[in-house]
Amino acid sequence: MPSVSSPDNRVSVLINQALPKTLTYRVGGDPAPEGALVRVPLGNKQGFGVVLGPSEENIPEEKLKSIAAVLELPSLKKSLIDFIFWVADYTMSPPGSVLAMALGGQSVLAAKKPRAKKEAEAVSPPPEKHALGAAQKSAADTLVGDVKDAKFSVTLLDGVTGSGKTEVYCEAIEAAMAESKQSLVLLPEIALTTQLVERLTRRFGFAPVLWHSGLTPATRRDCWKAVAEGTAKLVVGARSALFLPYARLGVIVVDEEHDGSYKQEDGVVYHARDMAVVRGKEENIPVVLSSATPSLETVLNVRAGRYRHLHLPERHGVAVMPHIHLVDLRHEKMPRGGWISPTLQKALRETLQRKEQALLFLNRRGYAPLTLCRKCGHRFACPQCSAWLVEHRTEGKQRLVCHHCGHAMLYPKACTECHAEDSLAACGPGVERLKEEAQKLFPNARIAVLASDTQEHIDALRQTVAAMENGEIDILIGTQIVAKGYHFPGLTLVGVIDGDLGLQGGDLRAAEHTFQLLAQVAGRSGRVDIHGHVYIQTVQPQHAVMQNLAQYDRDQLVETLIREREKYAMPPFARLAIVTLSGTNPAQTKEAAQKLAQNIPSVQAVEVLGPAPAPMALLRGRFRLRFLVKTGRSQKIQDFIRGWLSLVKISPIIRIGIDIDPQHFS
Ligand SMILES: [Zn+2]
Ligand SMILES: [Zn+2]
Repeated sequence: MPSVSSPDNRVSVLINQALPKTLTYRVGGDPAPEGALVRVPLGNKQGFGVVLGPSEENIPEEKLKSIAAVLELPSLKKSLIDFIFWVADYTMSPPGSVLAMALGGQSVLAAKKPRAKKEAEAVSPPPEKHALGAAQKSAADTLVGDVKDAKFSVTLLDGVTGSGKTEVYCEAIEAAMAESKQSLVLLPEIALTTQLVERLTRRFGFAPVLWHSGLTPATRRDCWKAVAEGTAKLVVGARSALFLPYARLGVIVVDEEHDGSYKQEDGVVYHARDMAVVRGKEENIPVVLSSATPSLETVLNVRAGRYRHLHLPERHGVAVMPHIHLVDLRHEKMPRGGWISPTLQKALRETLQRKEQALLFLNRRGYAPLTLCRKCGHRFACPQCSAWLVEHRTEGKQRLVCHHCGHAMLYPKACTECHAEDSLAACGPGVERLKEEAQKLFPNARIAVLASDTQEHIDALRQTVAAMENGEIDILIGTQIVAKGYHFPGLTLVGVIDGDLGLQGGDLRAAEHTFQLLAQVAGRSGRVDIHGHVYIQTVQPQHAVMQNLAQYDRDQLVETLIREREKYAMPPFARLAIVTLSGTNPAQTKEAAQKLAQNIPSVQAVEVLGPAPAPMALLRGRFRLRFLVKTGRSQKIQDFIRGWLSLVKISPIIRIGIDIDPQHFS
């Protein structure tokens, strides 16, 4: 009989990897209390994890391994461990993968020596506070009350650009500081939002701790420790900052709560806005969702009484809403091979004459989205994905690139199919091609492109933003990156080149996202003293989104969309999940999908559609088939999927990806 040690000596450890279960270890020399971070032997390697508590697992003593070391790092609080398991359950991900986000990467755990303390920083300037208007004051008082009471609440802070949402949530942050508590501000695209970071720095007289994927390992470790020890009073971060081990969190702000980049699509598939609400509940603190164009989900939560609504009216004389003009492309005489309509050209000319700035918005990176052969009609597609190759012409190189997997080739001299020379044609515009057109029309204008790939380095992107702020650019041409909360004081004209782009495709959120994006871009225009103008080029001026946008009627659009979602029983009136099977062999992938299809349990009010090829039927060399699962609002969709998947044995070479509450159907 193998001897069994007392259960007190063995603990259950959650490893920061995608393992199917927790592991049991013997406690070595140092005590390993609940929440302690430990280094443990794992196979013939080392792993890291967190102690969950005594283990009841029956393992023979001789097979039991000992904890190698208890790390000299703060322990994880029970509220964080509970949050990790909640997120894992909801997203159907291994808890270890969620833990990995909380631990902030190997660099936090592996580095040994703490860095020498930095030189004392220059004396900080005193905080700069702005006087609040009456509506702001009342909204701020409500939030400050929640922070002081340490009470869970969710508040939608709703107001147009310039209505002072930031000042309001800063009051809540200040109240948290007064209680020696930490604050977290989540932002989409943190690395680029220097304007808000500078503003927060001026407001509080010190720089917030930043958390995003671009940090060096040493900075990561320092930030993580500052968060865990409670010395980081204000953290500004991308979605992953939500999982950090705050010592005393007092308030969470989700800025631009409607933004699509809060959804993480790889690894643990989660929506940071929704998970922020869960974390707020676990920590018993207020959560503030801020937006000028709130998501439908949030609007409906307000209506159901689950979230509070604080509306900030437009402040008189502060930011004047722009005039919005729809340019009906069906009635414009478009220039040959050009995309800037005569109406928009005229507006651009007048803007330049007044020495004001313009922004042209086109959500397409590169030079041209499609290349085809005029002789044989061949279209250049990625060999690994269901996607066209996009032509790029940066740094004097002409290349064809896949935006999904990065596959790239030099621009061919002849057609790869029929070998005809000089037969290739660029179809459609990307931002680079639009720049070429604008430069031809306005040879003396200073024109720059702002896109996430033309400037690979964040520094270069920041320089372009700074040049625009300083008036060194006349026309800025950008992708959706320009909609991320910048404020350009000299900007008075915005031209949206293809207003219809977002309305295409069978995406249930297409209309909502298009309105949000266009409203954000429109929000870039308009100065304190001058009315800005927005020209939206469209072939569907009668579409509800365009009409509501032209009248700036957000509420009307929201009503239309809610009625539509209710009619078709789509979220948030139902729950959706996508189950995607992928494999390198199409026959095997299909076979696995058919096995699943034959075993769909019959459950009332649960609908499973598929298998069908995913819109990206081939991605990075893997064939993809998907099922769409739909349940009633009150059903637990995860339980249904778990039950279903447990009925079928799928070969491990087939990957199963699950997306709960999908944002789009690709
Ligand atoms: Zn050809
Ligand atoms: Zn590709």
